[in-house]
Amino acid sequence: MRMLLSLMIPSLLWAAQPAQPTRPVHDHYDRRLAPRMVPLLSEVIRFPTVAGNAKAWADQKTWIQKLAKGLGFEVRDAGKVMEVDLPATGGRDGAPVLGLLVHGDVQPVDDHWSIPPFSGTVKDGRVLGRGAADDKGPMIQALLAMKALKEAGPTRASTIRLLVGSDEESTNTDITDYLKANRPPDLSLVLDSAFPVVVGEKAWNALTLETQRPTAPTADRPWTVAALEAGLATSIVPDRAVIRLASAAGKDPLVALRKRLERRPLDPGCRAAFSLTPEGAGASLTITVQGKAAHGGVNLEGGRNALVALARLLDGELPPGGADDLLAFARQAGGDLYGTGLGLTEPDPLWGRCAVNVATLKPEAGGGLKLTLNIRATPKRYGPALEAHLRQVVSAFAAARKTAFSFGGFFGDTPLAFDPQSRLVKRLMADYERATGRVDQPAISGGGTYAKRMPHAIAFGMWFPGRPYPGHDVDEQVPIEDLHRGAHVLIETLADLACGEPLKEPFRP
Ligand SMILES: [Zn+2]
Repeated sequence: MRMLLSLMIPSLLWAAQPAQPTRPVHDHYDRRLAPRMVPLLSEVIRFPTVAGNAKAWADQKTWIQKLAKGLGFEVRDAGKVMEVDLPATGGRDGAPVLGLLVHGDVQPVDDHWSIPPFSGTVKDGRVLGRGAADDKGPMIQALLAMKALKEAGPTRASTIRLLVGSDEESTNTDITDYLKANRPPDLSLVLDSAFPVVVGEKAWNALTLETQRPTAPTADRPWTVAALEAGLATSIVPDRAVIRLASAAGKDPLVALRKRLERRPLDPGCRAAFSLTPEGAGASLTITVQGKAAHGGVNLEGGRNALVALARLLDGELPPGGADDLLAFARQAGGDLYGTGLGLTEPDPLWGRCAVNVATLKPEAGGGLKLTLNIRATPKRYGPALEAHLRQVVSAFAAARKTAFSFGGFFGDTPLAFDPQSRLVKRLMADYERATGRVDQPAISGGGTYAKRMPHAIAFGMWFPGRPYPGHDVDEQVPIEDLHRGAHVLIETLADLACGEPLKEPFRP
């Protein structure tokens, strides 16, 4: 109780601080702009802006340019980033810039959606489609909140600049390239995570293990691994894992294997399908495990990992070889979602544990196999220290199995931390509370955002706490009610930060 009081009292004080008169802006949004939210979001979802689709990107750019100009904003094409400006009331000269960052590209999709992923479907009070939450919803919310401010807001001391990036979900070079030729905004809010405000972002790492070791059938397991593949991308919980076993000893051993496997319990939330086909002199058994995709950093608990489930199903059933080695490692690393199997056990008092997603297993050129794990690390251990630790874990594992892997991956990211008592965090919490009536605790996120790349930036919204984040998931969707609630939070925040006196030293207490 004492804990609760000490958390509540300061927040009530912040909320009581005088704010800009924002009621007319909120009313204007509700009356004039809210009706445009769903149609605009549906339209922008129809551009399949996955990595590599240059045409979708160009078409979407034209669409945003036209929309932003129609709303009365100034648009500038800055290469990989687009700028949409609502200048300060007295003009842009000398006025500070408040940045709002979103990305216009999206994660890839697979064929397990219940609706076409790029149709912008509206159903049961929700907008569905790839990008609905991550990050096209926030893009439209920002444009409409800026419009509300332009038409009904107080005078602006700052220019509000919406920056739309283009490769956040893939190569993630857009902001770094932008900064080579452009000044960063004086302060930026990254609208690509959770409310009320994100005070910590874990470090993104990938661990890869490769093997060329062929499968050597044995007398009691007379089959080889003809194919093995799982997962879509490193930041997605794999919802599908497929293995094909080929027998040189005819069909009977595979029939017996299928019978054994069908009796084994499968991980909760997963299901398996078996298909046995005669194939020339031999026969083959294909096992497909279906799980549930989810964002590997933000909603790991919401996923059901098909790759780990397949690895557990096949425990003890594969003959020696690289496939068995990698699935054994997947079992160990996927024992829980927090890295226990990798020896990452110490919790951080504020940040908690790591998040580990056994993400993909794919064939390599030349007949090899590659397993990729995504590790979201806390300040306890990241970077070279994490890499060195994992090298040890992997070599001990390989030695115990009398095998070897090529070790690789990416360990170049660092956690991003903010002082929960900083001026900016307190102001954002108060804005959020005034707009929603909710008191929520600042968040730690497993997902990295542009806040790691843009100076003076912090992730602020636009997903509300208490619901699993659907970005990167199949049937990605956002409640329409939350789109409007989020727009109201943003209106309150823009009125506070862009219309009032600019915050001095925002990241200091
Ligand atoms: Zn995103």
